[in-house]
Amino acid sequence: MRIAPADVLSARVTAARAALQGSSLDALVVTSLPNIAYLSGFFASAAMLMLTQERVVLIGDGRYRESLHTRARHCPFVEVVELAPGSSYEEALAALLSPLAGLRVGFEAAHLTVGRHRYLGRVLGDAAWESRLVESEGVIEQLRARKDTWEMARLRDGAARLSNVAKCILPKVFAGRTEAEVAVEIEGQLRHAGFERPAFDTIVASGPNAALPHARAGQRRIEDGDLVVLDFGGVLDGYCTDLTRTIIVGSATDRQRQVIEHVVEAEDAAFAAVGGGRAPEAVDAAARETLTRYGMGEAFTHGTGHGLGLEIHEAPRITRARPTHAEPPLAPGMVLTLEPGAYFPGWGGVRIEDDVLVTADGAEWLTDVPRIP
Ligand code: ZN
Ligand code: ZN
Repeated sequence: MRIAPADVLSARVTAARAALQGSSLDALVVTSLPNIAYLSGFFASAAMLMLTQERVVLIGDGRYRESLHTRARHCPFVEVVELAPGSSYEEALAALLSPLAGLRVGFEAAHLTVGRHRYLGRVLGDAAWESRLVESEGVIEQLRARKDTWEMARLRDGAARLSNVAKCILPKVFAGRTEAEVAVEIEGQLRHAGFERPAFDTIVASGPNAALPHARAGQRRIEDGDLVVLDFGGVLDGYCTDLTRTIIVGSATDRQRQVIEHVVEAEDAAFAAVGGGRAPEAVDAAARETLTRYGMGEAFTHGTGHGLGLEIHEAPRITRARPTHAEPPLAPGMVLTLEPGAYFPGWGGVRIEDDVLVTADGAEWLTDVPRIP
């Protein structure tokens, strides 16, 4: 697994410090593991990080001693604290925070448990701690939405490999195989292609199961005439890519072909609406209006897409406009999926999904696999 070099991480830390200043925070306690990986290159199942204008302190435990040392060696600006046996993350963090008495310390509201929050409050002691321990939301996530060139290269590479896996697997979906067998083969191919792991549980949804957007892969045997939705992704160098194709097994009906063509058209309409400065809601509306024109608006039961990166679902959200909230505009460097679908209970369903890179005045396809079977 390749990890971002020190100069790339250092640029991210600089941007994060500017964001802290923008949020009037003196420090940020980072407890989201993808955010920690983003700032320090440290990938682990447990860690904490404290960021101030002067310091980046990464706290890890003995299971990750080797990688902690490697981090310290490769990134001199990251101070590494290895937990002493028997001591806790909370204690290590409290020791770092106590010299910051009187300063405004942000925590990630979405990623700090109530228990840890209470503990920090107790440790910080005085009556004013609640005003100093400041709830923050999405400070690092917002930076992560726009990929740096190092990340773009990883995502480009991942999308190309994922496309090859798709091209190799689609001809192998035939009547008589179970959904689970196909899923196992997809996941094997992902490993073979160099992915570290699947980005999520592979979806192989055949026949009536194709009408369920979140079906997994079960024991159903694929039959002649089935629509089969295959939705899978891989993690390469920590970065997720995501692709869906719908195929027709054996003989196809006119209706099946038609629905696939309409969904492809909806995806093209969404693609045409993507670009720096444009609203995510407009991208969703473009796909939705296309399907509505064909009387399939009601059958499109989810959002049009989501950001991709260290997490499979991250900013930006490409969904319907909401009355109380507007998503920030798209910006060059964002990487997102476009995945319109149409689902008809009992009949089946179709979803097509690709990954695209937002550019100044449009978008670029990252995945490349024929969409019409
Ligand atoms: Zn997907
Ligand atoms: Zn997706």
